Amino acid sequence: MNDPAPSLAPDQTPGLVCAHHHLYSALARGMPAPPRTPTEFLEILELVWWRLDCALDDDLIEWSAKLGALEALARGCTSIVDHHESPNAIDGSLSIIAEACAEVGVRVNCAYGVTDRHGPDGAAAGLAENDRFLREGGSGMVGIHAAFTCTDDTIAAAAELASNHGVGVHVHVAEGPADTWDRLRGHTAEDWWLVHGVHLPDDHGLTGTVVHNPRSNMNNAVGYARPTRFVEAGLPVALGTDGIGADMLDEFRVAFVRAREHDVTATPDLAWGWLETGRALFPDSAGDVVTWDYPVMDPWRLAYSPGVSPLRVEVDGPSGRETLWADGAPTRVDGDEIRAKAAEAATRLFDRLEA
Ligand SMILES: [Zn+2]
Repeated sequence: MNDPAPSLAPDQTPGLVCAHHHLYSALARGMPAPPRTPTEFLEILELVWWRLDCALDDDLIEWSAKLGALEALARGCTSIVDHHESPNAIDGSLSIIAEACAEVGVRVNCAYGVTDRHGPDGAAAGLAENDRFLREGGSGMVGIHAAFTCTDDTIAAAAELASNHGVGVHVHVAEGPADTWDRLRGHTAEDWWLVHGVHLPDDHGLTGTVVHNPRSNMNNAVGYARPTRFVEAGLPVALGTDGIGADMLDEFRVAFVRAREHDVTATPDLAWGWLETGRALFPDSAGDVVTWDYPVMDPWRLAYSPGVSPLRVEVDGPSGRETLWADGAPTRVDGDEIRAKAAEAATRLFDRLEA
């Protein structure tokens, strides 16, 4: 942080943080329907997301990241923890995402989700991309897709690489029942980013921050993660969208009602606390100032007030706070141009998926 932490007016908050995103999925909306309707979580991966990620090239990665970053800024989200996979365009992909976000003015923590789905060469290329990006000074973690798509050797190599770089591992954990998450035992550390945790038993024995993605979990029908049990066991809980945009006020509301559905005594402060946890990775975001079109940014009011939007987003950077969003538009980039180029890229992506 370069300026001292600002004192905020009642209609202001610091920049919001999305603790788990997939910027590569920003172009997916409107994509052709899968060849058949997926009936469970693994089929959703196979028939939707693993077809999409295989179709990505450098240009599609760039425009999806720019669109995702623009849409985050528009919702007062100034920092994103991204988890990326593009099996046919691995080399350099994390730098494309980092540069796209920097252009818009949104912070990003990048990771390439290593997997053995495409054989040992694919896993090695994913490890190499994480290594290259971190060696060149990129802000990130080492990514693992999930234990169930990796060999034990790949998991161990990713854990060692992260440790060597002094960063954590960003990994999907027990999102669905098919995930053999227990193979992560003995590897995790406090700086690991454990995403979902829906099917973790209470005696899982893993260490790290658990990232809750309530809307995505409902969309994939994988169940409720019951995040309070992680908090009670001493693990921090953060809030992510799992690629469904970066509207963190909206995700906060979903997290609140999902908690409430299971415990009518749950308060909005609980879910607001999860929203704040992600800030640990982006301490500078505490110096951002987002001014909203709502007079009192209090969790109890926001839980029941949909549609609250930022009027102005000021991001704390190397030369002080800079206004990056005002009067419904970004200040540093041309939002209409990004949306138009992203739409062209999406058409190309959809043609590829249909071919
Ligand atoms: Zn995810």
